[in-house]
Amino acid sequence: MSDIIHLLPIHIANQIAAGEVIQRPASAVKELLENAVDAEATEIQLNVSDAGKSMIQVVDNGNGMNEIDARNCFERHATSKIGAIEDLFKIRTMGFRGEALASIASVAQVTLRTKRPDDELGTEIQIEHSHVIKQEPCACASGTSFTMKNLFFNVPARRNFLKSDAVELKNITEEFIRVALAFPEVAFSYKHNVQEIFHLDKGSLKQRVVQIMGANYATKLVSVEEKTDYLNISGFIGKPETSKKTRGDQYLFVNNRFIRSPYLTHAVISAYEQLIPEGGFPFFVIFMDLDPAQVDVNVHPTKQEIKFEDEKIVYAFIKSAVRHALAQYSIAPTIDFDLDPRIQQLDSISKPFSLSNKQDAMSGGLYKNFIDRHQAHRIETSSNLSNWKDFFKENTDEKTVESGNVELPVQGSFITAKASSALTPLDHNAVFQLNQTYIVFEQKNGITLLQQQLAHQQILFEKFSAAWQGKGMAIQQNLFPVAINVSPTDAPILTGLLPDLLHMGYQLEPFGGSAFLLQGSPADHPSENDQSVIEMILEDVKDGTASLHQAYKEKISKALARKHAVKTGVKLGHDELRLIVEQLMECTKANTHFDGKPTYLEISKDYLSALFGI
Ligand code: ADP
Ligand code: MG
Repeated sequence: MSDIIHLLPIHIANQIAAGEVIQRPASAVKELLENAVDAEATEIQLNVSDAGKSMIQVVDNGNGMNEIDARNCFERHATSKIGAIEDLFKIRTMGFRGEALASIASVAQVTLRTKRPDDELGTEIQIEHSHVIKQEPCACASGTSFTMKNLFFNVPARRNFLKSDAVELKNITEEFIRVALAFPEVAFSYKHNVQEIFHLDKGSLKQRVVQIMGANYATKLVSVEEKTDYLNISGFIGKPETSKKTRGDQYLFVNNRFIRSPYLTHAVISAYEQLIPEGGFPFFVIFMDLDPAQVDVNVHPTKQEIKFEDEKIVYAFIKSAVRHALAQYSIAPTIDFDLDPRIQQLDSISKPFSLSNKQDAMSGGLYKNFIDRHQAHRIETSSNLSNWKDFFKENTDEKTVESGNVELPVQGSFITAKASSALTPLDHNAVFQLNQTYIVFEQKNGITLLQQQLAHQQILFEKFSAAWQGKGMAIQQNLFPVAINVSPTDAPILTGLLPDLLHMGYQLEPFGGSAFLLQGSPADHPSENDQSVIEMILEDVKDGTASLHQAYKEKISKALARKHAVKTGVKLGHDELRLIVEQLMECTKANTHFDGKPTYLEISKDYLSALFGI
């Protein structure tokens, strides 16, 4: 009988584990930046090529490593940050799993150069497939430089799974901003393909926020500051005018680690009620500090989720703190916004930490799971967030017309798709509007009813789609260029979109940081709000994958068509009515809207007679 169980070679085991820690270039960036911060660096550079797919480099001026540590740091569970299980409760440094470098070394070609400040020479190590292929002394600056090339070069399945450069770059920028916000006392720089995206001097948190978000935020920030025995809150929130229709500029940190929490994000946003339009997301960067024993932070290696002992208290607390801050700056009325006294009286806030608190934590999920599985990242989040998820559902602001009556017998044999006759009015002067929704006229075989919004959207969709191939949309120069500001994570994406937007008639030019100048707009389609058009396109494009370039063009065309088409309920003049009919007739898919709804219905003479029984 032969054995059927094999032990996996170490480098394959590492690769499998790497999947949990390093899912995309941004996860490597996060780990490397956090290590640099943990090494007490005061200057950190991030250099990235091709959205991290070909190269990620992090250079710091921190403590460095000796030659033995330089080799050991790539071993699984090699960490200088935790010695005993109890240390888990005291962790305030960024990483503590000792997995990141082992994972990175198993899925990329890595070069490490490191030197401690007091050492004469440093060490250079090259690693491939988890194996050291070179180690030698080197002359280098104090600190550490990690260069990883060709992420997932040996795991093609993962490599193929990566998204478009725009999306991966956005993820990297997000991680960079999170670390940069948490450590304003550290100077950071960030380059992508030699283009400098950020250069951040060390300074106060406020200065850091303004450097990242743009100078116009200097006057738009309100500070938040609340202290209790249980929890301290500090940071900045944006005045209501910073609210955007898209998410992205919301940052929550617990003990200086970025966390994702739809629930607590809701707490902040709900404090703005009445002050911002519904569906708006104000800027905020809020730090919560509490005894690490009170939270399971970083129990999941990638999801940045968190478990509080009592999440409801934290919710109420944050909401009050934000209300309070808004009230102090007379942005919201003061009444009832002081800290709710009931919160102050709650046990977990009023009582200092005790041994029993600690024991509770030790009997809690984190401790047990660690013992059980010898890993710290198996813990599920406890809170039931399902109803908060609804809150974050993508809100598409598009209002399409219900095609309610299409189920009528009108469909089927009585409708024809022959655009030519159905869209040729017998009398071009006898084209009318009905209910400010339909365009009606008599034609050879009966009556035609166009749904004005659907018809016009289809016309514009075909027009924008055609522009991709041809010479592009005609551009009307703006007399006064309009400034368009996007969130800093979107700026690199928008930069990548500029040639495509130009084709669509939007002539945008970079104007420093995350600002752009709109020099021209589509000539035939003046829009009252170009900023929102650009934001909408960005939202549509963000989730795209690399292989979907065609689909992405289609998305943009649809988005523009929706934006520029006449809406249902708008009164149209006679010329406009006629123009829509004529232009629809020229469409290749005149009778079907790109969403699959009919653009017009034809009611034949025969059908009418049948209805009357004659
Ligand atoms: P962890 O950060 O969880 O300890 P890592 O795999 O990220 O695990 O790093 C392993 C160890 O390598 C760290 O504990 C630290 O001692 C060392 N190390 C990593 N990056 C640096 C750096 N930039 N400067 C100095 N030491 C580092
Ligand atoms: Mg680490």
